[in-house]
Amino acid sequence: RRWIADQWDESHATLSGSPAMHLVRVLRARPGMVFDLVAGDRVRRAVISEIEEGAVRFLLGEDVEAEAALPITLVLAVFKFDRMEWAIEKVTELGAACIVPVIARRTEKHLAQASTARVERWRRIAREAAQQSRRSDLLRIQDPAPLKDVVGQAPHALRLLLAERERSVMLRDAIEYEEGGASLPEDQEIWLAVGPEGGWAPEEDVLFSGEAWKPVSLGPRILRAETAAIAAVSTLAALLD
Ligand code: SAM
Repeated sequence: RRWIADQWDESHATLSGSPAMHLVRVLRARPGMVFDLVAGDRVRRAVISEIEEGAVRFLLGEDVEAEAALPITLVLAVFKFDRMEWAIEKVTELGAACIVPVIARRTEKHLAQASTARVERWRRIAREAAQQSRRSDLLRIQDPAPLKDVVGQAPHALRLLLAERERSVMLRDAIEYEEGGASLPEDQEIWLAVGPEGGWAPEEDVLFSGEAWKPVSLGPRILRAETAAIAAVSTLAALLD
């Protein structure tokens, strides 16, 4: 397991809260013991220098090779919170870099209203999933925004609209690949948009096509939003990793 520092500079770091308690009480960490610690966007070999009530301090050493995120941003229309939390955990494990929660026309009203208050909880879930899956970096979760403010972002990215439409190409075919791997330019960002339980409204389809998002399909079956998000990220992970 990798530990994610709360505070750090070039040579020192501090871990606090329940991960620090777990380290001390369950793993019986003592000064001098060595762990891998995520400090910002680097994973470092770290020696415990001091243990205090509620905090563990480290001296930072060499860099450790770590798994970085895939360049995938998921635009996720907010859906039922228990399912949304599950999707956040799973796409973090699979390596997505960022989630942009959006309020779509068909997002249920009570979910749209409560979603801002939920963001800290979503970030904590992403943080725990990153630790568990040994990622070197955290999945970022932006504040929820209306779709119209998001749809024009990242014009440089390959922007794919998950849609169960007959004319859509399959997601795997939207990325040309050669034997030995996908042929996207290195670090090409990919944005994927997954609609709410009721699907995208017609005026939202118009917004997407106005910004030249490419509709892509995951096959003939209608998937729940969380299944579509996870299937899309794992399809891309298989092509890009
Ligand atoms: N529009 C559907 C309806 O009313 O029957 C339901 C929407 S589905 C539950 C939620 C979202 O998952 C869709 O907006 C789409 O983004 C994605 N999705 C579901 N099945 C898909 C598939 N086969 N291919 C691509 N995307 C899919």
